[in-house]
Order: sequence, then C-alpha cells, then structure tokens
Amino acid sequence: RHLNAAATSTAQSYPTTHDAIDSPADTQNFLDNQFVASKASQWIDLHDPATNNLVTRVPQSTDAELVAAVDSAEKAFKTWRETSLLHRQQIMFKFVALIRENWDRLAASITLEQGKTFADAKGDVLRGLQVAETACGIPTQMTGEVLEVAKDMETRSYREPLGVVAAICPFNFPAMIPLWSIPIATVVGNTLVIKPSERDPGACMILAELCEKAGFPPGVVNIIHGAAKTVDFIIDEPRIKAISFVGSNKAGEYIFTRGSANGKRVQANLGAKNHAAILPDCNKNHALNAIAGAAFGAAGQRCMALSTCVMVGETKEWVADIAERAKSLSVNGGFEEGADLGPVISPEAKKRIEDVIASAEKEGATILLDGRGVKPEKYPNGNFVGPTIIANVKPHMRCYREEIFGPVLVCLNVDTVDEAIDLINANEYGNGTAIFTRSGATAGMFQKNIEAGQVGINVPIPVPLPMFSFTGNKKSVAGGGANTFYGKPGLAFYTQQKTVTSLWRSEDAVASKASVNMPTHS
Ligand code: NAD
Repeated sequence: RHLNAAATSTAQSYPTTHDAIDSPADTQNFLDNQFVASKASQWIDLHDPATNNLVTRVPQSTDAELVAAVDSAEKAFKTWRETSLLHRQQIMFKFVALIRENWDRLAASITLEQGKTFADAKGDVLRGLQVAETACGIPTQMTGEVLEVAKDMETRSYREPLGVVAAICPFNFPAMIPLWSIPIATVVGNTLVIKPSERDPGACMILAELCEKAGFPPGVVNIIHGAAKTVDFIIDEPRIKAISFVGSNKAGEYIFTRGSANGKRVQANLGAKNHAAILPDCNKNHALNAIAGAAFGAAGQRCMALSTCVMVGETKEWVADIAERAKSLSVNGGFEEGADLGPVISPEAKKRIEDVIASAEKEGATILLDGRGVKPEKYPNGNFVGPTIIANVKPHMRCYREEIFGPVLVCLNVDTVDEAIDLINANEYGNGTAIFTRSGATAGMFQKNIEAGQVGINVPIPVPLPMFSFTGNKKSVAGGGANTFYGKPGLAFYTQQKTVTSLWRSEDAVASKASVNMPTHS
C-alpha cells in the first residue's frame, strides 16, 4: 500500500522500485538557485544498494564550482541578513509545507540511494521536517536581553548571523541531517553551502529545489559535491565561518581539528556504540521488541542504533528470545511491501560487517544468529546482511571495540546493574544508552551515574526532538560537545552575540578632566 501512496503523492514521477534506470542522469551542483551541470573530470558512481545498478554519477565539483558556491553565498548574505526575520519565517513556513507535500518523493530518493525501507525513509524525512517546523518559532528565541546597568546606561544583547556557513553530511540520514542545518542556519540570517554525502545526495537535491520554491533568494542555499577534496576546500576557505559536520570519527576529528585551527566554529557529531542495560524486572515483551527494532532497523546504520546489549543477571537467557524476534524481520529491497531492513550502503560495508562477525567467531563469542549470506530472492546482487546476534561477547573483542554500523547486535553478560553501568561508562563513546526496568529508583540511579549523553528509560532510541538538542558526548562528539546540534545550542552555534552599552544622559557633563581609570559604572 505504501508504494501507491508514494506514486500518487505528487504529480512528479520518481522511482519507486529498484528496477534499473535507463540512462541515469548525473547529479548537478545547485548554485544561485539553479541546478547546474558540473564540469567535473572526476565522478563518483552511485549504486542502488539493493541491486548495485547505477543510479547517478556524483561530481567531484571543480575548484571553480566550489569557489562559485561561496561567492554566491557571500553575495546573498549581504541582502539576506537585511531581510526581516518575519520574512525569513514566512519562507520557512512555506519550506515546511513543501517538505510535507514532497515527503514521499524525498523518502523514495532515500530508499533508492541509501537502501533503507520506504517507511523508515519517511521517518528520516519527518525527523528533519520537525527541525524545520521548530525553526519557524525561532523569532521568539532570538530576542536578546536588556538591563539598565547604571543611571542612564543600559546594555543590550543581540544575536547576529555569522555569514557563510557550511554543512558536511553523512550517508545514513540523507534528509534529516541536511535539515539539522538548513532551517536554523538560514532563518537566523546566514547563507549556507552544503556538501551532502557523495553516496546519496538525492534527497538534499530535492530539498534544494524546495528551498528555491519556498522563496529563498539565490545563494542562500548552495550545494556542492565530492569527497575529501571538497571537505578540504570548506575547511580552508576563509569566507566560511562555521562548519556543521556529522559522520565518522576519522573524518570528524580531522575536520574539527583543522577547521578550529583555521578559526572556524565547528560542531561535529561522530560515531557511537550505544548500549542497552536489560534488567530482569523490565517489561520483557516491550524490551525484546524495542531491542530488536533498534538494533536492526535501518540495517543498524543509525548513529543511535542500539548495537550492544548488556544482559543483567538472568536476562542472559533472553538472548534466544531476541533472536526469535530478529528472525521474524524481513530482509528485502526497501521498496518491497513488508520489508523491515534493507541492504547496507555498499559492498565494502557488507564485507567489513561480515569480517567483524567472523572475527567474533574466531575470538570465541557465540554467533547465535548469523546474517551472513542472506540474499532476498529478488535481489541477489544487493549488499544485504541479515540480523546477526553475537552472544557471550567480551570487551576486548573487535566486535565490541568497533562501531559495526550494520545489523549486528553484540550481547555481554553481567551480574548487577552496577556492573552494567561500569561497563557502559568504560566505553569511550557516549552517544546514547538505554535501560529497561520497571523500577523508578533503579532507572533514576542509572540516569544519574551513566556518562552517555542521551539516555532512554524504556526508550530504545532516545534522540531528542528539536526543542531539545542532540547531546551525545565523549568520543561521539568532537571538541567536548560544546556545540551541539539544534535546539537552543543549535541557535547559539549559528549566531554570534553582540552586546551594546549606551549612555543617554539628559544633563551636560560638568567635569573638565578626563578620567583614565577603568570605568566601573558603579
Ligand atoms: P563519513 O565520515 O565517512 O562521511 C561523512 C562526510 O565526511 C561525508 O560527506 C564524506 O564525504 C566526508 N569524508 C569522509 N571521509 C573523509 C576524509 N577522510 N576526509 C574528509 N572528509 C571525509 O561517515 P558516513 O560513513 O557517511 O556516516 C556514518 C558515520 O556517521 C557513523 O560513524 C555514524 O555513527 C556517524 N553518525 C553520527 C551521527 C551523530 O549524530 N552522532 C549521526 C549520523 C551518523
């Protein structure tokens, strides 16, 4: 049924199957509100992860195109910052409405290029849309402060845009993560250059089209493409004042360090290893469903995937029950009715995930459910890995030390909740964690003592809605997490403060000698 919904949601036609595309079109740059064919000499082939058919070629944008994007954004900033906040808010309302109208089209692009199921791709769009909806209310949060600091003297604070800012995005949320930046960065008056993931830029290109339709003037949002070369350009281009990065530790730590050294603001969300502590007193049925859903949904390619279970006490016997739930999940092309998980992003990712499973076997863990070799009938050439459960894992094993980013759940056993907390805190990542229990007191103790920055209590994926902020910590963020995404900190990231102190005295000054002491206003 969802395919019909996709096909009828807008007049425009777009692929809603994994059938090979006749003459795939190249992905274009988006400069000055125009889709422009790239003059690139290097291209990155983008394949449908379910079939490995070619979907498009993504350019490594040329030096001239990269510079043109910043020229365009710099020029647009001069007038965009002068437009009234209420005008920008109206454009944001329109943008929100257009995302809703194009929801299925965006989701279909995600399923085709990224591989996740159509229903899950709709969630990807929704979580980004919610940031845009919340950004419509930013005028209220933009108000500054004022205080009469001395007789006839007051200090006022203002929030002003930074100028040209940039976003570098990962492959796993092709709509949501560009939408962590587009609404907030632009509604407060910045102009934005986006580099979507070279592995699935399609949803971001649709968002660009919607920006133009919503009334964003030319240059407020520009899109350039490529891999490390484009990233280096963004890091080193002095006219770009801030960088929003989401992706792996390897790229993110480099971008944070070099971007910061260049004097830019950088917010960088990185990798993860999210643990769930399962307590014997929990609502077992709810916990089993929550764990299977959060470990294997999106084929485990979420930064908040619940990839590690800490089975406390007798719950170690429940691993077999989790395996039963996992077995009932359907692995298939994302457009197929009833598909629960699609393929992983690339043949290389599939191989890496299978290597990690093999390493666990070699290191003495138990492969309770083995997703290697799973091949949906219609998709023999896709990058599929079925749900995999590795039990009796020890912290020194590779499958525990590395972020797997695939449909693999690793399970460790401990005797007490205190041991569970120690184990989770000893992990270097701090993105998210969850506890399953019926005890408010135990949950309270866990919440207080756990170090991870996003905690779910009987909630498997506690990604905060946009009125809060995405608060991973430890190795899951660069720079100690000072600049988190969306919410009030997101607004603070995209604005700089100005404070103005003024004196308006009605009587004329009488002193004839200047005071050279530091003014105290007291
Ligand atoms: P990635 O780091 O490979 O790519 C992210 C971006 O960085 C891409 O635009 C890519 O072109 C660029 N890039 C990649 N390697 C680079 C290099 N060596 N130098 C310069 N730029 C480079 O990440 P990915 O595989 O696309 O995404 C998956 C990762 O992102 C996982 O680790 C996941 O946990 C993380 N992630 C984190 C969050 C979060 O909020 N914490 C959210 C989503 C994804």
